[in-house]
Amino acid sequence: MKVLFLFIDGVGIREPAPDNPVNPDVCPVLCSLIAEHATFIDACLDVAGLPQSATGQATMFTGINTSKFMGRHCEGFPGPSLRKIIEEGNLMMSLRSIGVRCRFADAYLVDDIDDIRVRRFKSVTTVMALTRPEIICTRDDLDDCQAVTHDITREILREKGHQLETVTPLEAADHLMQVVRANDFTLFEHFQTDLAGHSRDYEKAAATLSILDQFLGGVLRLCEAAGVLVILTSDHGNIEDLSTRGHTRNPIPLVTVGPGAEAFRDGITSLIDITPRLLKLFEEEAK
Ligand SMILES: [Zn+2]
Repeated sequence: MKVLFLFIDGVGIREPAPDNPVNPDVCPVLCSLIAEHATFIDACLDVAGLPQSATGQATMFTGINTSKFMGRHCEGFPGPSLRKIIEEGNLMMSLRSIGVRCRFADAYLVDDIDDIRVRRFKSVTTVMALTRPEIICTRDDLDDCQAVTHDITREILREKGHQLETVTPLEAADHLMQVVRANDFTLFEHFQTDLAGHSRDYEKAAATLSILDQFLGGVLRLCEAAGVLVILTSDHGNIEDLSTRGHTRNPIPLVTVGPGAEAFRDGITSLIDITPRLLKLFEEEAK
């Protein structure tokens, strides 16, 4: 069994509106996935206030309601308490412990994994990946077309001064597929959607969603042909409502396509359920 998990930051569900760029004119593939292959789940985690990335993602990848544990939603990069929870147990650690071949397909533009360890700010996925460093992709993997940059086309990383050739969204889809083929569980994280939502700039949001959509189109075609279960979800709403700079309390999509897709999403109601469900899937496979 092969599973591709696409974590797309800051995409919630909201009715059509002039300031909602998540519409079929902008991102037809994503919209049809949401319309036909999704259930809408909760990202607010029984805690007041706007859901945030650190607690949302920590909850997604541990199965522990970390917002409740912290007593609030925590923004951005996880602090010491959240890092400790992630380091004690997470999706990748659990999957690796039962022999599942895992890969975090986002390339870190470093030659040495120790260069990631010393970073002051680490995302939830980085903290998780460092608990199983063998799943990490570096600059070499990217050069071998065995990884993808978080912005898909490498354009944004080039603007930041990295020496990279840009690729098309379809080329990036091909590269992601190389990773998927060589592993049982592949994670890809894309957070430009959240940044575009914070910008409140419709053109920017539409451009970001359009690149993502072309990439998704390619990924889905390749995964369908290869019999891969594709799971797409988010950590909280944001880009679907450009009337506000912050996140939203809207539900988020849990899209599943491929073998066992409907059974996978059946009964999942919140971010808390995702890691336990993935573990169950691979544990049953291992029996
Ligand atoms: Zn955000």
